[in-house]
Amino acid sequence: ARPLLVIRDLNLDFGTPRGRIHALRNVSLEVPDAQVVGVVGESGSGKSTLAYTVMGLLSENADVTAGSILFEGRELFNMTAQMRRNLLGDRISMIFQDPMTALNPVRTIESQMIDVQHHEQKSRSEKRANAIKMLHRVGIPDPQSRIGGYPHHFSGGMRQRICIAMALLVKPALLIADEPTTALDATLEVQIIHLLKDLQKEMGCSILFVSHHLGAVAELCDRVVVMYAGEVVEQGPVREIFHNPAHPYTRALLECDPGRLKQRTRTLPTIPGEVPSLLGSHRGCIFSSRCPHSFDRCVHENPVEYSIGTGQVARCHLLDEERQVSA
Ligand code: ATP
Ligand code: MG
Repeated sequence: ARPLLVIRDLNLDFGTPRGRIHALRNVSLEVPDAQVVGVVGESGSGKSTLAYTVMGLLSENADVTAGSILFEGRELFNMTAQMRRNLLGDRISMIFQDPMTALNPVRTIESQMIDVQHHEQKSRSEKRANAIKMLHRVGIPDPQSRIGGYPHHFSGGMRQRICIAMALLVKPALLIADEPTTALDATLEVQIIHLLKDLQKEMGCSILFVSHHLGAVAELCDRVVVMYAGEVVEQGPVREIFHNPAHPYTRALLECDPGRLKQRTRTLPTIPGEVPSLLGSHRGCIFSSRCPHSFDRCVHENPVEYSIGTGQVARCHLLDEERQVSA
């Protein structure tokens, strides 16, 4: 079957006064039907940029220089702005780190939840009933009376539940979640992850789940995409990535305490050095300046994707060298 979302060789720059920032380089990944794909990586690796590109919500200075994104078989970059807007909130919906990004503070939950159903040919009272049912499903107590409240009448965790309810009310094929649990404490995070997993199974939608938190990714995702400085360095089934990581960067990520990863740290404690500048051109492997196994080839030649097992690939010259030794 054709995957729901297919991203091929996506390259994206941001124009800045200091020059062009290469925020995404040759990014390729797929989100199959009814699966959860996690995107992990340090701050600045391009996770949000990738998510916003799929949503079609990039800033003015963003420039897609190459690549393709097929959603349900249709090229997103060939669509008019109107077609893309129709897709959002109908086939694709999203949740963010800060629920207030999605909620309007001066409108009731009821009116916002009725509004998101504008694609549906239903009466207002039917839409209200749907909204109440969904609020109940995501764990809002007494939704019948609380639906008339404003966002600030709810706690942070409750607001995120409301956002999830709103996002799923339209029965999207794809939910894009950018760090939806990062602002929540650990107990709430676990609850929200379980809720997302249950709802995803019930509704059969796919999720593109962006997160710093490897524990959350391990719990929720079927596949994992590991990003570093704008490139996908490794991807594969969740079990392989966690138990048999092939890229030195993935290994280093996993060696970090997952609890610490919840913090928005710039660099990871176990990997010395800084993420390379994304300005200007770049030679060799993007991770070579921090990689403990770096050798000549890594500095001069950008590695291609080597496939390791079923569906697992990594960009690392070591995999090629190992192959040549064993051949
Ligand atoms: P975080 O984990 O902190 O959310 P991220 O992986 O989501 O990080 P992005 O926000 O996608 O990273 O940023 C990728 C790179 O692109 C960073 O270097 C960032 O500074 C840069 N960037 C993002 N948006 C813009 C913009 N509008 N203009 C210029 N540069 C940008
Ligand atoms: Mg981000």
